[in-house]
Amino acid sequence: MIIGKNIHKSFGSLEVLKGIDLHVQPQEVVVMVGASGSGKSTLLRCFNFLEMINDGEIIIDGKQIDPKRDNLPKVRAEVGMVFQHFHLFPHKTVIENIIEAPMIVKKVKKEQAINEGLQLLEKVGLRDKAEVYPEKLSGGQKQRVAIARSLAMKPKVILFDEPTSALDPELVGEVLQVMKQLAQEGMTMVVVTHEMNFAREVADRIVMLHDGNIIEEGQPEDFFENPSHERTKQFLKLVN
Ligand code: ADP
Ligand code: MG
Repeated sequence: MIIGKNIHKSFGSLEVLKGIDLHVQPQEVVVMVGASGSGKSTLLRCFNFLEMINDGEIIIDGKQIDPKRDNLPKVRAEVGMVFQHFHLFPHKTVIENIIEAPMIVKKVKKEQAINEGLQLLEKVGLRDKAEVYPEKLSGGQKQRVAIARSLAMKPKVILFDEPTSALDPELVGEVLQVMKQLAQEGMTMVVVTHEMNFAREVADRIVMLHDGNIIEEGQPEDFFENPSHERTKQFLKLVN
């Protein structure tokens, strides 16, 4: 569904991604872990063309994307992104946040966008918050709105960048629950997270990034019980 081949990305003289290969199958849930600074966010941002790669290929649903030729807002509609800090528009209500992109990028009619948006709010358990402004919501609720907003574009894959890292501990569960439900419904997902219980339970595959390379990958059981790389062992000691 989304394929990265030999992805290289530098910022000035700092080489952050050093030839990443990552193939994500349809309906697969890949959890990506790694120390701070290892390049996790940069890789997700490259997959969504918020950053442009210096070398390599990105193929989405069979089509190699050429940032110079392809319509990037349309590409981004297919590759949803959920950020640590939600990024909701503060001056728009919850439902306005959700209908904005479908109306502008996909030219969906307002009435239809609202109907679909309300269904998505129902799905994330926030149907009653449609008319409120984000400031009235808890962090967990904001993140669930952000997920609904991403779903409103009917993406083929959603990238999550530490979606629960900014939340108070008691609010983490409600967001993970929504993500788990999406996974069960067959959404293709790449999730950067330190929530190892979620990774164990929901991931089909875990990849470990270190210093701009994928140094280990495997099914959760193998990854956790039998890591082969010394760095992975160290990392698992830190997060467990
Ligand atoms: P992670 O998400 O794994 O913590 P990042 O992808 O955010 O790692 O960052 C990897 C490295 O790239 C870090 O050294 C970071 O400082 C650097 N970096 C990220 N974005 C930029 C940028 N826009 N300009 C310069 N350096 C950046
Ligand atoms: Mg990051």
